[in-house]
Parts: sequence; C-alpha cells; structure tokens
Amino acid sequence: MRSLWLQEALGSAEEDAPRLGGAEKADVCIVGGGYTGLWTALRLKEHDPALDVVLVEADVCGGGPSGRNGGFVLSWWAKFAKFEHVLGAEEALRLCHASAAAVTDIGEYCAANGIDAHFRHDGWLWAATSQAQIGAWDDTVQAIEHHGVEAFSRLEPEEVARRAGSPTHVAGVLEPSGATVQPALLARGLRRVALERGVRIFEHSPMTRLERSRPLRVHAGDGIVTAERVVLAMNAWLAQIGELSRSVFVLASDIVATEPIPERLAEIGLTDGVAISDSRLLVNYYRTTLDGRIAFGQGGGLMAWGGKIGRDFSGAAPPDRAEEVAASFRELYPALAGVDTSQSWTGPIDRTHDALPLFGRLGGRPDIVFGGGFSGNGVGPTYLGGRMLASLSLGLDDEWAHSAELFKPRGGFPPEPIRYLGAHVVRAAVARKERLEDRGKTADAVTGFVAGLAPAGLVPVKKKA
Ligand SMILES: Cc1cc2nc3c(=O)[nH]c(=O)nc-3n(C[C@H](O)[C@H](O)[C@H](O)COP(=O)(O)OP(=O)(O)OC[C@H]3O[C@@H](n4cnc5c(N)ncnc54)[C@H](O)[C@@H]3O)c2cc1C
Repeated sequence: MRSLWLQEALGSAEEDAPRLGGAEKADVCIVGGGYTGLWTALRLKEHDPALDVVLVEADVCGGGPSGRNGGFVLSWWAKFAKFEHVLGAEEALRLCHASAAAVTDIGEYCAANGIDAHFRHDGWLWAATSQAQIGAWDDTVQAIEHHGVEAFSRLEPEEVARRAGSPTHVAGVLEPSGATVQPALLARGLRRVALERGVRIFEHSPMTRLERSRPLRVHAGDGIVTAERVVLAMNAWLAQIGELSRSVFVLASDIVATEPIPERLAEIGLTDGVAISDSRLLVNYYRTTLDGRIAFGQGGGLMAWGGKIGRDFSGAAPPDRAEEVAASFRELYPALAGVDTSQSWTGPIDRTHDALPLFGRLGGRPDIVFGGGFSGNGVGPTYLGGRMLASLSLGLDDEWAHSAELFKPRGGFPPEPIRYLGAHVVRAAVARKERLEDRGKTADAVTGFVAGLAPAGLVPVKKKA
C-alpha cells in the first residue's frame, strides 16, 4: 500500500518508467530515485547537458521515504551546535546558511519548473509540549546568536500555542526559513524534469550487484549498466553496503493522517503551512495539508537488524505503532480527539552516529561515490546533497566537492547483535523518560543515563530536565 502522498502524486495518467532489460552504457549511473538521486541527476545535467545519465530505482521514483515523509523542508540550523563542534564555526555557518537558502531554492525551482508540490514557506515551530522540553533549543539558539545570526525567533508562549493551534504547546522558537511540501509531488515533479532533461530512468530495477570493475557494472532489474561513474543515492539502504554498514542505523518513522477536517482546523486556527515538532528524541512532527488534514508523525519506530529493510518498513504503520502515534496526536490536539486517523504509513530513517550526513568515495575509489545519512532531515538538505554528489562524482574542485569531503563517515555504531539489542534498551529508556516528563515527573538516574546514550535525532534534546 502506498502512502497517501504517493497515491495523490501517482493519480495522473503518468506511466512508470521501464524496467532495465538489456545492456546500457552511461557516463554516470545513479542508484536510487529519491530526492538525492534526482537532484544529483539534475545537477549533472545542469553542469553538462551532454552527460549520459542513467538512474535505476528499485521501486518507482519517490517510492521510498522521499514520497512518504512528513514534508518538512528544513535547514541545518537546528544542528548548528553539532556542526560547529565537528566542522568548526566557519564551515558550520556556511553550510547552515546554504541549507536555509536551499529551502528557498527548492520553492523557486518548483515554481520555475511547473512542479506544484504545495510548497508553503510558513516556518518551522520548534516547540515544547511539556515543562521538561522547555529550552531544548537554548544551546542551539545561543550558539547561533554568538555569531551574530538570528536563525530562530523567540516567541511568547501564547503565540506558540496560537501558531500550533493547541494550548498543549507551552513554549517554542520559530525558524522562519522552514517550509512544507507534499513530498511525493516534489519527488515526482523532479522525476518529470529529470526525464525532460534527458536523464534515462529505469524503475522497478533494483541494483542487485555492483561490479567494481573498470568501467563499473551495475546489475539492476534484468540488465546491466556499464558506467564510468556510479552514484549511490540509496538512503537507508546504504546500510546494506559492507563499508557503510556500521555508519548507518536504520529505524522507522511512522505517520498517521487525519481525514480532511478543514473546518475543524479553522476553528483551532491551524490553517497555514507551518511545520511543527516538539522537543522529544522520539520526536512528534506535524503539519496541515492543502486538503485540510493533519499529517502527524513520530520517530523511533521499528529497528532494522543489520540494516536489513524488510517489507515492514513500507506500507501502513504496524497497528500498535499507528495507535501509539494517533494517541500522541490526540494528546497534543485534545480538541480533535474524535477525528479519524486511520490512514497511516511508515518508512526507514538513515540515522548516523552524530546525526550529520555522510558522503564519500566507496573504498576510496573516485568513480563510486555515495551520499546519505540525513537522519530524518533530508527534504531540504538533499538539494545540497545532489550538488555534493554531482561535484564529487565528476571530480570537480569546487565548494560542493569540498563540502562532501567534510561529511566523510566518522564514528560508527557497534556491530550486531550489540547494536540491535543496545538500541532497544536505549529506546526503551528514552520512551520511559519522555513518558514521565510528559506527566511532569523526572526519570530515575539509571533511566536518564541510558537514555542519554541515544544519538541526537531531528533536534538536539535537553540532557537534563
Ligand atoms: C516517515 C518519514 C518521515 C520523514 N519526515 C521528514 C520530514 O518531514 N522532513 C525531512 O527533511 N525528512 C524527513 N524524512 C527523511 C527524508 O524522507 C529523507 O531524508 C529523504 O527522503 C532522503 O532522500 P533520498 O533520496 O536520500 O532517499 P529515498 O527517498 O529513500 O531514496 C532512495 C531510493 O533508493 C532506492 N533504492 C534502495 N536500494 C536500491 C537498490 N539496490 N537499487 C535501486 N534503488 C534502490 C529506494 O527504493 C529509494 O527510492 C522522513 C522519513 C520518513 C521515513
């Protein structure tokens, strides 16, 4: 079953691209038809329209998380403190400014290319929905302000509740650069433009083997692409590549959507396209849709043993998870408690150890490059990811190749079974701690310590309540 987003985007008469059948040749073969692969393809064509670019996708373009995410188009400002710590202030500032500009660029790209992805530039509200969450943003906002930049505006509590459409939101800051899109319309729109630019796309063509010969040979679908260069834009599926298996940890995020309730949304004053999240590690994130629904997601779902992404990472969310997410929705929007939330879907998130993305050359080979690890914030940043992968794969010496070098994999997760078992223990501690905090209580020291071992998610969390 497809997500509501993808069903809407595939509603037109557009046909799937063919499955790879025979032998093809290309200058560049891209594996993965989500935003990363598509932006890379578009950037390559922009750089040199004569380049022969082939893209192979296991499903349809946008069939992965690019077609079923929450549609938050965010910058990297929320990760500024981590960026600064790892990359230094100058690079952190450059990359965060570029990521905020990317949000605007995506909106402009859509407008210029006739992609109606419901782009709404109404900001991102980083809110607290419990006393314990208040101030989760303080270190980040102060670190940014220290450099004379005002990426976030501090809002009065009443204003936070008003913007969120619910009094359960007790504090927060607004990042005006944030936007929302209907994610699958963006992915499918990029696919259309890529086809128009001459990118040759093969759908239903999973890569089953990458022969590291010269030239490279990508076995996909029922055929083979012989290519000078290969770009691996496989998001969570990068975890299945030997060299990267310790760098990416895969866990699901789940979304429920309400039925269309435009009048009810008008009653609570939630009618614009603001993106809202709370400040939990098992983050709740939500926004309205153009047809008057709320799409409400939550991080911290199913975990993948050894990076293996089974069928349970697509389609509807598992019933108990869907109910858990719906219960959080009802808690944060008590005024909408009776609303139907029976639509749900799930998808894999590619978490890295430090929540920074990762880019590089596989096995040190300049002709095989990879990019991913967006850790749940990829809708905006994959625009930059496409630039980095295009520059890296062409061997260019420019700002974006340099940026990719900064994001080389660093630090890894423990091997299995420690990773899987450890992750369950840590997640249980985080869930317990956050449940208690929701009720105004504090977790015991052991729970707090174990929960503190979790890597940062969408937003940095307060270590101490
Ligand atoms: C439920 C959910 C909610 C999210 N919400 C947000 C949000 O609100 N904002 C945000 O910024 N980010 C969000 N994300 C993350 C965001 O969706 C991703 O960071 C982004 O889509 C990454 O784009 P991508 O192209 O790298 O990956 P994908 O969209 O996953 O594309 C990778 C593609 O590679 C294909 N593939 C994999 N293996 C192979 C193979 N062997 N051969 C061929 N093709 C292959 C897959 O089928 C897939 O289509 C969310 C993710 C999920 C799951």
